[in-house]
Amino acid sequence: MIPRLFITSGLQAGQTVNGSQAQAHYLKNVLRRAAGDAVCLFNGRDGEFAAHIADLRKAEVTFHLASQTRAQAAEPDIWLAFCLLKRDATDLVVQKATELGVSAVLPIVSGRTNVAGTNLDRLRAIATEAAEQSERLTVPALHQPQTLGALLAAWPRERTLAAAVERVAADPPGGQGGLLVGPEGGFSGGELDALHAAPFIQAVSLGPRILRAETAAIAGLALLLARSSW
Ligand code: SAM
Repeated sequence: MIPRLFITSGLQAGQTVNGSQAQAHYLKNVLRRAAGDAVCLFNGRDGEFAAHIADLRKAEVTFHLASQTRAQAAEPDIWLAFCLLKRDATDLVVQKATELGVSAVLPIVSGRTNVAGTNLDRLRAIATEAAEQSERLTVPALHQPQTLGALLAAWPRERTLAAAVERVAADPPGGQGGLLVGPEGGFSGGELDALHAAPFIQAVSLGPRILRAETAAIAGLALLLARSSW
């Protein structure tokens, strides 16, 4: 298997670029790679490149870029706003949302969210690894946690937001530019009123069963992304 790595530098055939300390550790100590071994690099802007390890030390790695193997291409532009869950469930949502192809992840704190915060650096690492594994050309943008009120106030009016609401007669998601999923305790009555009043929101159903929030996020995104072009 050729390791596929996300790096931040610009990519151009013939160049030598630096990887991170974590990538040096991963290549040397986990994958047991050495100078001369092949890698595949992408940075979210310049497509994907075939490269090889030029130099690999304990905490440093450089890559030499051969040729571009994929040009940067348009990807679906679907955003996931989800109320923060316990650590493992939040990690799962970020990983699966990245695999499924979201362009942005917006962690939300709602009235019934019972998690104080999250570690964005860890979530960024999870999203980066999922993008590497799933052969995406980008890593989704990861936003700072915000309240549900702040999300609704700032949401672009032209972007339809599918709000997953259980026990309502509504259509499945499809064609919207974003998905909103509530916390384990669901949205409060006041929050549901605010969602129904927002002109850019469509309440959507994910079926007759009550899904765990992480299941709702993954299933809703699968439905949304299956209908968007890529
Ligand atoms: N505690 C709530 C209850 O028992 O009524 C259930 C909340 S559910 C575990 C967490 C979130 O998943 C909900 O806020 C909603 O966004 C989403 N969800 C779960 N099942 C759904 C369904 N069948 N249709 C739409 N959304 C659903």
